[in-house]
Amino acid sequence: MRTSSRWQRLRDVILSTDPKRRTLVSMALLALVLMTSSAGVMLLVAHSSSAVNATAVQWWAAMSVGGLVVMTAFIRSGETARLRDPSLTIPQMVWTITSGAVAYVLAGDARGLVPSVLALILFFGTFALTMAEVIGIGTFALLAFACAIGVTSRFSASPFGYLDTAYALMVLIVLSGCVALNLRIQRIRVRLHEQRVALAEALQVNRELASRDELTGLLNRRAMQDLMGLEHRRSVRSGRPMLLAQLDIDHFKPINDTHGHATGDRALQAFASTVRDAVRDTDVLARWGGEEFVLMLSDTQPEDARELLERIRRAVAAMTIPHATGTLHMTVSMGLALHLPGDTVEHTLERADQALYTAKALGRNRVVVAPSGHRHQAAAHSGTSARA
Ligand code: GH3
Ligand code: MG
Ligand code: MG
Repeated sequence: MRTSSRWQRLRDVILSTDPKRRTLVSMALLALVLMTSSAGVMLLVAHSSSAVNATAVQWWAAMSVGGLVVMTAFIRSGETARLRDPSLTIPQMVWTITSGAVAYVLAGDARGLVPSVLALILFFGTFALTMAEVIGIGTFALLAFACAIGVTSRFSASPFGYLDTAYALMVLIVLSGCVALNLRIQRIRVRLHEQRVALAEALQVNRELASRDELTGLLNRRAMQDLMGLEHRRSVRSGRPMLLAQLDIDHFKPINDTHGHATGDRALQAFASTVRDAVRDTDVLARWGGEEFVLMLSDTQPEDARELLERIRRAVAAMTIPHATGTLHMTVSMGLALHLPGDTVEHTLERADQALYTAKALGRNRVVVAPSGHRHQAAAHSGTSARA
């Protein structure tokens, strides 16, 4: 247990705790290990062969590994995070390709080892680079190795032979392979991106469906509960009033019984759109269930809310819904409650429901305001009793 936490701490120190930087540092360290191993092989060659200049190889090894150490430290410091290429892939590749080309000149008869290292470098980069960058790096590698082959044939004791031609061809083959691989990776990336976009769209549609009532297109009960919770917190913070109204269509069951369920459905749709048209964009109407609706008014004064509900009541009463043998009319009863600071949304809804019950008991087609405290008791039942 202790060993693992010590190991964890060591990893945090080396790789950093930032997950993005950890990935970059890990990749840089991998490149560093590969370069160090290749330098080790070159040093072994220099040690074993009298034809190789050991001092030059030692300098080469120190420079090659040193360059990557500096870049890895730079990545670890986090300074590269604001660069366009925070992984320093291109500088690393340019450095290692140059180092490979120099190794080709220094390695003497062992230069056949170098193209395989070049292949490793290029395949590495292929996963991180764009097509244009792969071609750019490939061209650079081609030029660097052309120079290396040229220098080797110019200064080496042995003349330009078939092996040099073979190595040059190997470099070309590796480059072509990288371009082909890169094309394939790009295609996979595009497909993955398209799939991600399609998935996000499907998720959005799903979310929309999950929060909407299918028949009326209004918010459903669950979505409305979330929204009321949100508005409750907002009103507590801002001190702005929040009002909740329960709306219930009067004698709706007989509409179904007389004209059929399909006509009942159309009546519900017409009701929803009439009420929605009567309120502001910022007011939210939801289907609470069956022929019951909840309206949330934010930033509205109670007197204005009562006026608004009266307007809705009149608009509903004026609706005409055509059916097979004529048109039908309907009315709505409403209970309005002011959400009191410190109260719960559930309790305010209960008060609105009680006010609705009173509206029904008083004869329907009316608005009743729930008492919101001792001062407001007298204001209760101030609906359209004249019309009752
Ligand atoms: P009250 O004035 O007391 O509210 O009487 P009511 O008839 O409106 O009330 P009740 O609760 O007795 O009946 C509600 C009816 O609403 C019964 C049910 O069949 C109908 N209903 C509920 N959901 C739907 C729906 O999605 N489509 C249709 N067509 N009818 C529905
Ligand atoms: Mg009803
Ligand atoms: Mg009802």
